[in-house]
Amino acid sequence: MRERQQIGMSVIRQSLRPVPEVDWRALGKRYFNLSLYYRHTFGGETWKISVDGGFHCPNADGTISRFGCTFCNIASFSPSRRYDQPASVAEQIRRAIDNFKKRRSIDRFIAYFQPGTNTYAPLPVLKAMFSEAVTVPGVVGLAIGTRPDCLPPEVLDFLAELSQKIWLSVEIGLQSAHDATLRRINRGHTFEDFRQAVWACAARNLRVCAHIMFGLPGETPEMMLGTIAALADLPIHAVKIHNLYVARDTALAKIYAAGMYRPLEQHEYAELVVTALERLSPAIVIERLTAETSDEYLIAPDWCRDKSGTLRRIQQLLDERDTYQGKLWEQTAGNVAAASRDSETGRSV
Ligand code: SF4
Repeated sequence: MRERQQIGMSVIRQSLRPVPEVDWRALGKRYFNLSLYYRHTFGGETWKISVDGGFHCPNADGTISRFGCTFCNIASFSPSRRYDQPASVAEQIRRAIDNFKKRRSIDRFIAYFQPGTNTYAPLPVLKAMFSEAVTVPGVVGLAIGTRPDCLPPEVLDFLAELSQKIWLSVEIGLQSAHDATLRRINRGHTFEDFRQAVWACAARNLRVCAHIMFGLPGETPEMMLGTIAALADLPIHAVKIHNLYVARDTALAKIYAAGMYRPLEQHEYAELVVTALERLSPAIVIERLTAETSDEYLIAPDWCRDKSGTLRRIQQLLDERDTYQGKLWEQTAGNVAAASRDSETGRSV
């Protein structure tokens, strides 16, 4: 809250202003997708390369918890954790770039520090790691995935300094704006932690991408859309929406085996995504609309293997309804502004 008070109202207004950097509707799009944003920002096709800095997570190493989030099996979403010790940061990026270049003529890449909590290390380690990444030819930006409770001021100050030299995005996992859900999935942080982290980033002009999940245990469609509404009042620049899947060797796998969890069906997920898009600001870049993992790790749902089918279904629904991102945004933002005022006076959002 203190960070928020330090920010001038002009920064807040600018961050929440629903004016997209690209007039994507004029280009016939129904949402502001990532490749469009990349083309606009970097002048051509740009690809994200997953980098494994070997970071751990306070929610799994005993600092907050030893059990991790109930759905988390880090190896299930990161190839590097399935095999041997990863190569150095620069080597990982160079290898990935070489592989891409064999198939596509792309020469702009974002180094995405993905598995684990990528700000969970002493500052000198972070400085060395991120500085190494930006020296690799072809790297035009950094994306750093982390938790809202792992962004102390000295780390944010360093990221802000780095963002003066290279495009940088802080990707913060929220998953749900409902504290009851966050407790149920053992996230180890609250929605307020997320809000404070976002405002601390805004105070330093840092770009934020929020990660959320649909289909979390115990959540109704209204709750999932409530998470979208809660984002409308925050200065975020991008969103990733993931469908929750059940991965092997997780607490969720046990809950699923006991018949106590039902994943969303593909059509339910597509409906939710379309409604969510309608309620998001048209200025927010949609970085992802599906989650996927390897066959080796996936237990359910089966449709999770069909990423392009899910994206097609979402597009079909958008077309059928003749709707688009932000269609209902002002209404959502108004509701949230009121809810936010209530929360300032002691009622929870
Ligand atoms: S915070 Fe991220 S890395 Fe840590 S346990 Fe949860 S999902 Fe896994």
